[in-house]
Amino acid sequence: MTRTLAQVITAAMQADCGAAECWAHHLEPCKGTGPGGVHVARLYRAERRGAISGAELHAVLDELVAFTLASVACAGTGAAA
Ligand SMILES: [Zn+2]
Repeated sequence: MTRTLAQVITAAMQADCGAAECWAHHLEPCKGTGPGGVHVARLYRAERRGAISGAELHAVLDELVAFTLASVACAGTGAAA
């Protein structure tokens, strides 16, 4: 079943964030990202832990033009692959 980007980002919050100066823990919101946003570093950790799939990680990253590990991914209207 395909998850929306919002669902993928919510699932990624199961992982601790690895972005410098954030380090949000399990289910805590990322610091300074605004509502519904997570750091890209958290998405990578979530993928390694199996909370999101590699395809879902790429679907979120495809929404960003350029990013670093401290970039913020927010839920858009598209669906994850
Ligand atoms: Zn974070």
